[in-house]
Amino acid sequence: MSSRKRIVVVGGGYAGLTAARRLLKRGRDLDVTLVNPSGYMTYQPLLPEVAAGTVQPGHVVVPLRSALPGARVLTAALTALDTDARVATATAADGTEHPLEYDELVLALGAVTRVFPVPGLVEHAIGFRTVEEALHLGNRVLARLELAASSASPEVRRRALTFVVVGGGYAGVEALAELQDMVSRAVRRFPGLTIEDTRWVLVEAAPRILGQLPERLATYATAHLIGRGVEVKTATTVAAVGPDLVTLGTGEVIPSDTVVWTAGVVANPLLRRLGLPCDPAGRVVTDASLRVVPGVWALGDCAAVPDLAAGGGVCPPTAQHAVRQAVRVADNIRGRLRDYRHRDVGAVASLGLRKGVAELYGVPLRGVLAWWVHRLYHGSRLPCPRRRLLVNLAWLLGSRGRDPVALHALESPRTPLQEAHAAQRAS
Ligand SMILES: Cc1cc2nc3c(=O)[nH]c(=O)nc-3n(C[C@H](O)[C@H](O)[C@H](O)COP(=O)(O)OP(=O)(O)OC[C@H]3O[C@@H](n4cnc5c(N)ncnc54)[C@H](O)[C@@H]3O)c2cc1C
Repeated sequence: MSSRKRIVVVGGGYAGLTAARRLLKRGRDLDVTLVNPSGYMTYQPLLPEVAAGTVQPGHVVVPLRSALPGARVLTAALTALDTDARVATATAADGTEHPLEYDELVLALGAVTRVFPVPGLVEHAIGFRTVEEALHLGNRVLARLELAASSASPEVRRRALTFVVVGGGYAGVEALAELQDMVSRAVRRFPGLTIEDTRWVLVEAAPRILGQLPERLATYATAHLIGRGVEVKTATTVAAVGPDLVTLGTGEVIPSDTVVWTAGVVANPLLRRLGLPCDPAGRVVTDASLRVVPGVWALGDCAAVPDLAAGGGVCPPTAQHAVRQAVRVADNIRGRLRDYRHRDVGAVASLGLRKGVAELYGVPLRGVLAWWVHRLYHGSRLPCPRRRLLVNLAWLLGSRGRDPVALHALESPRTPLQEAHAAQRAS
């Protein structure tokens, strides 16, 4: 039997990829297997810029096999766990089961979009956590401009040009701000359309947006968005979503066929089925060293890790913590056991090109300065040197966003062949 320690990392997001890399770098005597349902990791903080076309989709995804030479990368999903026998079962897309024996298991399963029982939500809204969703959203918004520009119906135009974003956290605010920026550039190429013809609605259930930032900065961001014509509806919920309208809890009906749902996240629901201790939010409970039970560690958005630096509570689900916990967990597995402790550096949100809000080491920043912090921070955090270079180069060359063209066919690539076939049969 091999004396090499078998490490299985489940989840190839920011936390899992960073942990696996650190383990490989520091431990040549380890067999590292990483399990993830797709072959790539997504750098989520840049998804709003992907939607707006200022960052290319391929530049925010990191192929796991290239990023982890020396590891076994298995494209599958964890489906069962036996912590007594130390076997994790991963299931591939075709149903093939892979029982993976481990000495140490690292759970980095992340979170999923929080979905409320709102009628029509799942059928008609779009989430915003994956590169596919971001790309789809950018294309959809541009397709709505094309439809509005070519329709004679005032109802169709009004509906197509109304964009509703639900959730006033970072993802929702940044997505709305970036998309509105993109549209204000794109409409210049649509004679007969102006940015004033578009309607942007941000719906937030809490009394204010950007709950993660100090109130002063959130107030600034709200005023900024309102100044740009965005309707910011706080303390407001969504009651129903239809194919071409949204009904708010207040009874207001908004005609729109583009509804983006970013109303928070919940820990991966699979965690509750693994037989591990979970907190009421469904996150796996760890001790301060990120250990769950002997042989099992957890980190990132899927874990409730005591926030020692804050003096209480658990670490918030941010990339900032995920990446640092990954380093700690890898070093702990290597035997340098220490507690995880990280003082939040701050938070930053982009409000579109050359606009933003940030808090850095307690210092509030806004406007172009905050936006620069956003770019410098995320431009240096992408976990792949080539992609970092490409993103920074595109920014440096003054990427003004995508050309206003909607690539609808990307989502139905078989349609041209089917249409050609139908046309030939008809002739
Ligand atoms: C739009 C957006 C903007 C954001 N902006 C910021 C920001 O500005 N700053 C910040 O700090 N944070 C930001 N975040 C949050 C940050 O991206 C997350 O905190 C971070 O990605 C968490 O990393 P993770 O590895 O725990 O989870 P993830 O990156 O979500 O990775 C989880 C991985 O687990 C995989 N997985 C799921 N189920 C299984 C299974 N059964 N088996 C195997 N693998 C599985 C998933 O496919 C995924 O690859 C943002 C998030 C979003 C969505």
